[in-house]
Amino acid sequence: MLNLVLFGPPGAGKGTQAEFLIKAFDLVHISTGDLLRAEIKAETPLGVEAKKSMDKGNLVPDEVVVGMIKSKLESNAKAKGFIFDGFPRTVAQAQALDLLLEENKTPISGMLCLQVEKQELVNRLLSRGKVSGRADDQNESIIENRIVVYSEKTLPLVEYYEPFGKHCGINGMGTPEEIATRLKEVVESL
Ligand code: AMP
Repeated sequence: MLNLVLFGPPGAGKGTQAEFLIKAFDLVHISTGDLLRAEIKAETPLGVEAKKSMDKGNLVPDEVVVGMIKSKLESNAKAKGFIFDGFPRTVAQAQALDLLLEENKTPISGMLCLQVEKQELVNRLLSRGKVSGRADDQNESIIENRIVVYSEKTLPLVEYYEPFGKHCGINGMGTPEEIATRLKEVVESL
């Protein structure tokens, strides 16, 4: 089983690259951001509550996203592997994920960390905001906050995976196809 964490700051291209990887390796894609936006669209109590954090560029509580991951894993019991996109985002989430995967004896194979310069992130998010209509992609101060939250709460995960030899840094600058080729090479070497 191939379980990949697709990691990187907001705007690093995780969603775009996940599309390439699910096709190349026949994986189930789990994006907590997409799951949360679906809850918001359906106006569920979870969605209404999550929206308050998301609109400010802050993280949704760990137990909320871990609960969503747990049910996704259970409903895809026959999957060949998973690509986790935008999850884990805190050390507590990474620990919870390890416990969930331990139950199925299918650990994380690798953490693919897309590295992109900050100004490129802001440019990509602002242009995505024009097309997607996502409120959190249209306001530069919310984008700034998301990048700060990433540095403070999510980046420490590099140190979480590094001692297990699971952290793989990947140059995330260039065309989507160039980045996909780099990612594929790394995944094949895992
Ligand atoms: P994304 O689509 O991954 O950029 O996520 C959009 C927003 O959803 C984030 O800014 C957070 O508010 C929330 N979110 C997504 N994934 C998580 C997560 N794993 N933990 C906490 N909040 C999350």
